[in-house]
Amino acid sequence: MAQPPANIVDEVGIALGNLGDAATGMFTPTLRLGVTGLSRAGKTIFITALIHNLLTNSRMPGFGPLADGRLIGAQLTEHPDRGMPRFAYEQHLAALTGKEPHWPESTRRISQIRVTLKFQSGNWLTGMLGTSQLNLDIVDYPGEWLLDLPLLSLSFAEWSEQALARARRAGSAEDAKPFLEALASIDSAKPALDTDAELLASTFTQYLRASRHDGRALSTLPPGRFLLPGDMEGSPALTFAPLPTPDQAQKHNSLYAMLERRYEAYKSLLVRPFFRDHFARLDRQIVLVDALRALNAGPEAVADLETALTDVLACFRAGSPNPFIQLIARRIDRILFAATKADHLHHASHDRLEAVLNRLVANAARRAKFVGAETRSLALASIRATSEDVIEENGEKLDVIVGTPEKGERLGDEVYDGKTEIALFPGDLPEKAETVLQPDGEPVDLNFMRFMPPQKLARTEHGDPILPYIRLDRALDFLLGDWLK
Ligand code: GDP
Repeated sequence: MAQPPANIVDEVGIALGNLGDAATGMFTPTLRLGVTGLSRAGKTIFITALIHNLLTNSRMPGFGPLADGRLIGAQLTEHPDRGMPRFAYEQHLAALTGKEPHWPESTRRISQIRVTLKFQSGNWLTGMLGTSQLNLDIVDYPGEWLLDLPLLSLSFAEWSEQALARARRAGSAEDAKPFLEALASIDSAKPALDTDAELLASTFTQYLRASRHDGRALSTLPPGRFLLPGDMEGSPALTFAPLPTPDQAQKHNSLYAMLERRYEAYKSLLVRPFFRDHFARLDRQIVLVDALRALNAGPEAVADLETALTDVLACFRAGSPNPFIQLIARRIDRILFAATKADHLHHASHDRLEAVLNRLVANAARRAKFVGAETRSLALASIRATSEDVIEENGEKLDVIVGTPEKGERLGDEVYDGKTEIALFPGDLPEKAETVLQPDGEPVDLNFMRFMPPQKLARTEHGDPILPYIRLDRALDFLLGDWLK
């Protein structure tokens, strides 16, 4: 198997990046926080809520530096790296807090933003020197991009074999049909035609997209950039697909040889630079997981999410035989796993949601220790879209959540209009988290639907809108509390 060397260029690139960080942070230390998760896990909402709560000094009893009164204030400052898109905080906040609050557009590419925090240090020596500052650099990137790490150690033939086996398995055959038909109609030994490459790539992408539908929620299919291409959309490095391995070596001008070259270009132009230039410079990481959507979609989706998380978490593992992974993962010292959208459940179930999340990441954690990094799991809602109530049904008390389902959401025969508030019994998560991964385990009976964001927000004494949350303060405490000591 072709094992990529952690070559000297990578080593130097990472070292220079860190040196640059040290130089710009000469007077103000910088904490680089990576925010990731698969598409629609809740990254955009998490970052927007986190920044807004910091900027408005909101009530966060679980966030030590604020609760102790040591955090003096926060402001957005210019990021010294002018080559990366800025996280569109203002636009996202406007969507959530404008006249008709709606969810903003989700993460589609990497972006970053800097918040500078001013605090009174508890350390007597630093404290005597006056207030201290910390630059918090938040880096938002699609979790799908992490799924590409294994590709670095797979040849085109090895990857093709895995991808084709997956496309042909029973659960995928329907989604993959147009791709498999296109594949059957093309002879990869013949001279390469761009139109053939495009047909294969587009039908393969269609299949990847179909497997991400809500009802199926499958999530483990690299290449990650096919669904979230960022700025390279349409380029040859993104226009390839898996091909059956031919019996003999193929000519240089054959379709097979062309797609093989493109696969290698994908790795060297997109995958490797992302890990080297961005991932390797993170200090802390939060991995957001939409466990509820997978639970709602059924055991196949849950098993698939577990596999995806195991692949994603491979990027954080120590002891990997791959020297490139050793090189990129060594800096991160805390990883928080967060099950998002906990406001879809009654708070009595939050512990169970955490237990499910723990179970989902357990395999990855057991297989290899994370790079000496401390890890924790938490159920949170970055923005709470529901409230809680108790109703009586047939003499029985039921814990319900109250919210406004998004337009077009359904429950039984009912289709909602985006304006009607309802009380919903969200269902129960199993007592034993283990059972969600057993195909014959207790079925999880959830009523999961999308809710509108809160429509009437309370305001602070300064007139800033207050975004309600669940445990966001505790997430912040784990991720940056110790840097504000
Ligand atoms: P990402 O950027 O692709 O990871 O995902 P987003 O942050 O855009 O979230 C995707 C969708 O999930 C949003 O449009 C909301 O519908 C929903 N969502 C995200 N966070 C929350 C939350 O805290 N509570 C609720 N009720 N829904 C959320």
